[in-house]
Amino acid sequence: MAENLSKVVIYGGGNTAIDVARTAKRLGAEESIIVYRRTRDKMPAHDFEVKEALEEGVKMKWLSTITEADAGSITIEKMALDDKGFPQPTGEFETLAADSVVLALGQNVEQTLLEHMPGLELKWDSVQTDAVMMTSVAGVFAGGDMVAGGERTVTVSIGHGKKAARAIDAWMRGERYQPAPKHEPATFERLNTWYYADAAKTVRPVLDIIRRQSTFDEVVGGLDEGNAMYEARRCLSCGNCFECDNCYGVCPDSAVIKLGAGKRFAFNYDYCKGCGLCVEECPCGAIAVEMEDK
Ligand SMILES: Cc1cc2nc3c(=O)[nH]c(=O)nc-3n(C[C@H](O)[C@H](O)[C@H](O)COP(=O)(O)OP(=O)(O)OC[C@H]3O[C@@H](n4cnc5c(N)ncnc54)[C@H](O)[C@@H]3O)c2cc1C
Repeated sequence: MAENLSKVVIYGGGNTAIDVARTAKRLGAEESIIVYRRTRDKMPAHDFEVKEALEEGVKMKWLSTITEADAGSITIEKMALDDKGFPQPTGEFETLAADSVVLALGQNVEQTLLEHMPGLELKWDSVQTDAVMMTSVAGVFAGGDMVAGGERTVTVSIGHGKKAARAIDAWMRGERYQPAPKHEPATFERLNTWYYADAAKTVRPVLDIIRRQSTFDEVVGGLDEGNAMYEARRCLSCGNCFECDNCYGVCPDSAVIKLGAGKRFAFNYDYCKGCGLCVEECPCGAIAVEMEDK
């Protein structure tokens, strides 16, 4: 980007485009304009990011594509969405003053490191991994943006890291990591929401608009320890027993056995008559009744 920014045009619609546009504003650009070829609702960036960028004075040219760039200006063409939602050129042009154009059109994996690894299987520009994040080279694991099929977000990358760490640990012991079987999703109708108190979401502090124009301080503040604990307690724990003791209290046959803090419960099937009260009263849908094999 030019050092003395004046009018910056960013071409793209993802969170990178938004970050560049907001950064340009903070670095003093007089105008920071995102040119995106589809509509706001089709933008891959999060809507809250778009809102924050607009608040900070970033301008958006929806349904537009850059057709020409000259010294000091660019030409954009208006697009219209066809029946299938794809942008099509309209032949209608507009000229924008611009001294910098930034293409924010995608992220690719830097492959030089991988070129020296014979046998490493790639798909397009990404590394292929199996269910436990091991690549086609035995003992080499991968995760994050470089892995095929990943969503390329921080959350997914951290998840990959955790999964790979477990698999590496098993590999070092000469085993293959077997993830614990997952229970069925606890759908809304299996929850007893009456059990939970209403608890509004914590409102996070937002940096004043004036300070957002010239500093790189965090715009939406994080949670302190107290708020984080409060937020964690708002979790309905769908499908995961949190030891509320309801099943233990309502069982008419004393078939529910407490195993102690953190160990949840066991069921004594010699006493259980299958009335299903525990299932009915479980707030988080963690219990299911199954027919016994005779
Ligand atoms: C502008 C932008 C905005 C984004 N915004 C968001 C967002 O708001 N939310 C979100 O969830 N995600 C966002 N992402 C995506 C997110 O940053 C990535 O998904 C995440 O960082 C991927 O983590 P990773 O560990 O796989 O890779 P990286 O974070 O890229 O880490 C890879 C590391 O490896 C190093 N490296 C590369 N090659 C070598 C080598 N040969 N030797 C040694 N080291 C090497 C690199 O220097 C780097 O430190 C954004 C990305 C960009 C570019």
